[in-house]
Amino acid sequence: MQTTSADSTAPASPALARPSLRPDCGNCFALCCTAFGFSRSADFALDKPAGSPCQNLAHDFSCSIHDSLRPRGFRGCTVFDCFGAGQNVSQGFFAGKSWLENPDTKNEMFAAFKAARQLHEMLWYLAEAQTRTFDPDASHRAVQLRNTIGHAASGALPELLSLDFQELHSQVRSILMDVSEEVRASYFAAGDDHLESALKPGADLIGKNFGSRRLCGADLRGAYLIAADLRDSDLSGVDLLGADFRDARLEGADLSKALYLTQPQLNAAKGSRTTLLPPDLEMPSHWHGHNS
Ligand code: SF4
Repeated sequence: MQTTSADSTAPASPALARPSLRPDCGNCFALCCTAFGFSRSADFALDKPAGSPCQNLAHDFSCSIHDSLRPRGFRGCTVFDCFGAGQNVSQGFFAGKSWLENPDTKNEMFAAFKAARQLHEMLWYLAEAQTRTFDPDASHRAVQLRNTIGHAASGALPELLSLDFQELHSQVRSILMDVSEEVRASYFAAGDDHLESALKPGADLIGKNFGSRRLCGADLRGAYLIAADLRDSDLSGVDLLGADFRDARLEGADLSKALYLTQPQLNAAKGSRTTLLPPDLEMPSHWHGHNS
């Protein structure tokens, strides 16, 4: 990832730093296994309504099939990432008192988790935008918004639950798009008109072969890259905001300078130790033969 002098304007709260936007399941009351619902599908072996504990959840909030989620049909659980909202809500907003100890708080806690996850995800993207831009104005806007969202994510529960998320999403989107344009402009075109016309926001690239191609600077925001072959490709400066990476082949791909890549996207893809990742992201365990 590029670093810039603009990043020296750090946000005020340490709660906004990227390491605190990583899940800490040991300090969470399994909120992802309770608050959200899922339907029986290729990703989940059974139906589970929102607001109820998964039948595989143990009393200590651990998953009883953690080591065999994929073979047992729970691939969706290995893809999900709360961006650190779980421990924030469990230990921050609810001061370490679980929904099991205090069932009356259950609905509020689950609602808070859903709200906080959105805020934490926004913080994740804004941290990257701030780091990648060389424009002092864009950096300043990112810092301001990180602080606003950070305060909401660590403030009072009623305020969290009454936030105008549509407005926040729109402000975040504006900054992310400006920084994306700036970053992508610094990469040269591939010199391949056919390739460039295919690489568009929201493009249907399902199953396409981009192996060993230089895709640098492309705007693949919201693109469908399901099962696409990206092996040994160069995705430096590619905007991947919300791109669907399910089963995309990433072995040997260079994602180290890709823009707006998240852990859930990686978790959904197929890669290996030869895949180059941005510094804040981890190689999913199933890439090296583990099933969780
Ligand atoms: S299978 Fe395990 S990780 Fe998935 S929701 Fe159930 S308890 Fe949670």
